[in-house]
Amino acid sequence: MKRYSIAVLAGDGIGPEVIAEAVHVLHAVAQRVDGLAFDLREYSVGAGEYLKSGDPLPAATFEEIQRHDAILLGAMGLPHVRWPNGVEMTPQLDLRERLELYNGLRPVYLFHSDDSPLRGRHAGEIDFAIVRESTEGLFSSRTNARSSHDSAEDRMLITRRGAERVIHAAFEYSLGRRRHVTLVDKANVLPSMAFFRQIFDEVSLEYPHVHTGRLYVDAAALYFVQRPEIFDVIVTENMFGDILSDLAAGLVGGMGMAPSGDIGDKHAVFQPSHGTAPDIAGKGVANPVATILSVAMMLEWFDQPETRTGAALIRDAVREVFNDRRARTRDMGGRMSTEEMGHAIVDALPHRV
Ligand code: ATP
Repeated sequence: MKRYSIAVLAGDGIGPEVIAEAVHVLHAVAQRVDGLAFDLREYSVGAGEYLKSGDPLPAATFEEIQRHDAILLGAMGLPHVRWPNGVEMTPQLDLRERLELYNGLRPVYLFHSDDSPLRGRHAGEIDFAIVRESTEGLFSSRTNARSSHDSAEDRMLITRRGAERVIHAAFEYSLGRRRHVTLVDKANVLPSMAFFRQIFDEVSLEYPHVHTGRLYVDAAALYFVQRPEIFDVIVTENMFGDILSDLAAGLVGGMGMAPSGDIGDKHAVFQPSHGTAPDIAGKGVANPVATILSVAMMLEWFDQPETRTGAALIRDAVREVFNDRRARTRDMGGRMSTEEMGHAIVDALPHRV
């Protein structure tokens, strides 16, 4: 039996609280599915680690976490812990770039109609995934920005290699879904985006059985709210993906319901889309569902029959808990604590499959 080794990086703020519940769920799934076993090892990374050692992502830790089958991350960074130049620490972004995790996968799924601000959308009627390019785009000059007294400049970088690999990832992912990929860009204004579209058109020829759509980012924002059901898989550049995934999370209950995977060819990091939420950290009220659904994504990414079963169990358990309108954490209008939500999901898992 293969044992999956997982590096657990709980991080800062609400990170450790939501990770604790995700780890409970992971252990519970291992008990219920034959042939599924995990070895978890925790590492200290983030603003807390910087305060201890002066480095939010120590080199030895970076070396070690790469040897695991996957990385499970909580959230990182704290507003009052900054580099001398005033910028917050973001080791989670460094991981994306250094491990070439180009495929920022953010599934969006409505578990209960009451949780959407949109009227009349039933469970499952909002069901799409954003594939956010995560290594270049408008974040590319993040660490070497050009600025002077009179101006500041950020660069939108689209490379052929970067665009091809993420667009391929989106098409491949759509094969296991409804086989529809929408490109979101700003090709009418920016040459970099026209180039992105050109590459999308080229790659799409390799997938004659997948339907395609092309939308400018402003129109996409409108359709997210008016007609979210038209989307299956969306592929877009880094910054557009960043913004649209928060909008998408808002359609299905907020940041506490938004899981994500940062996936490369060799490594992958799974984490909730939200940050460290310092305003509620330490209070036991954070919603752990995004992190728990990120665990399901990790199991799916392992892509073995028993891990796929584990992923399906987690989603079914979340669905069952959410059928009861009262079973919500505070961010979604309920009264459950982080721990109570984690326990409810464990209890909703079937006993043995
Ligand atoms: P970042 O810049 O890293 O995204 P942030 O603090 O600006 O971090 P988030 O942490 O994502 O933004 O969240 C913004 C607000 O949403 C938080 O302050 C918190 O009130 C709420 N929030 C985020 N995640 C959760 C969660 N899991 N449960 C409950 N509320 C949350």
